Amino acid sequence: MTSLLTAFENQTLPQSYLEADEQELCERIAHAKQALGTDLLMLAHHYQKDEVVAFADETGDSLQLAQIASKNKTAKYIVFCGVHFMAETADMLTEDHQQVLLPDLSAGCSMADMANQHQLTTAWTRLQQQWPEEIIPITYVNSSAAVKAFVGDHGGAIVTSGNADTILRWAFTQKKRVFFLPDQHLGRNTAYHMAISLDEMALWDPLTGQLLDNAGKEPLAADQAPATKVILWNGWCSVHQQFSVQQIDSLRHRIPDLKVIVHPEAPHEVVEAADEYGSTNKILQVVKASPAGTKWAVGTDHNLVGRMAKQLCPDHEIHFINPIACACLTMNRIKLPHLAWCLEELAAGRSVNRITVDEATTASALKALERMLALS
Ligand code: SF4
Repeated sequence: MTSLLTAFENQTLPQSYLEADEQELCERIAHAKQALGTDLLMLAHHYQKDEVVAFADETGDSLQLAQIASKNKTAKYIVFCGVHFMAETADMLTEDHQQVLLPDLSAGCSMADMANQHQLTTAWTRLQQQWPEEIIPITYVNSSAAVKAFVGDHGGAIVTSGNADTILRWAFTQKKRVFFLPDQHLGRNTAYHMAISLDEMALWDPLTGQLLDNAGKEPLAADQAPATKVILWNGWCSVHQQFSVQQIDSLRHRIPDLKVIVHPEAPHEVVEAADEYGSTNKILQVVKASPAGTKWAVGTDHNLVGRMAKQLCPDHEIHFINPIACACLTMNRIKLPHLAWCLEELAAGRSVNRITVDEATTASALKALERMLALS
């Protein structure tokens, strides 16, 4: 498996690509794409920069892109303009003769990096002491292949932001309690909308190895433990955690008849203050399906919200919930120089920045992925 440490060591983008101007890079990318023809499938996540999306064969959220990659049996090269865990998932779902490449190996995901296999093993051992044989692990697709493999080996499944509700309901048919990682907000928001109260949730802090109350302020009290149904991993998305109820209130005050839609990686109180919430794909669908002229404040990544305003939802008035929020830094690592380099090397018969997951990890992780796909 490619670790991010190895990735940084191997990263050798020639300086000439950084010195080329945008027009030249666009021409070279177009030329390399044409030379590669159907050997190439270029996928871009919705959060990618506009100039990268412009060259994509397909765009989508992480689930859609994984499904597209798994259905394509012919492309020799899948260039994944997204982040590391997405390329890992694509490698696990594609055939042996297909290569998955990530144009910039430093495009990781800060949330996925908040849970590693060692921390998970430690947590699992501790939680088994507390609730022997009563817990099923569930991981968000935004996690490493190693975490997915652990979950697969322990009877659990993967969720996406689009199917978390379905998978969580299934999980409770398997065990009394769910251990949800790495995004505490997706887990909390999903469980809450299944009528599980906040008092029935606890927070596992991987840094201190402590089991805390839902607010993460106090150790979980002994009398709360029997009622605990969901144990949330203390992880979060640096992009979606930037939204607040104050921002929503301020926008509603300034813009009459405003509707608000947010991603479920946003904090619980933000989701409750919104009119709607859902995956990236659902956000797009709901906004597009609303009557022309509807005013929307959208709580997700800047690149996508900007594209909704300019191009994808031209009949609607689109606002950022937080116009000064930082975009996803790691998604934005994929830029034209890296893309041109990756494609030109492929056209010359060389693979750079290939992402591979070893066979044993793939076999275990696929158990969790296949449980999800069977339930979705
Ligand atoms: S938006 Fe959040 S969850 Fe998605 S890649 Fe960036 S840090 Fe990770």
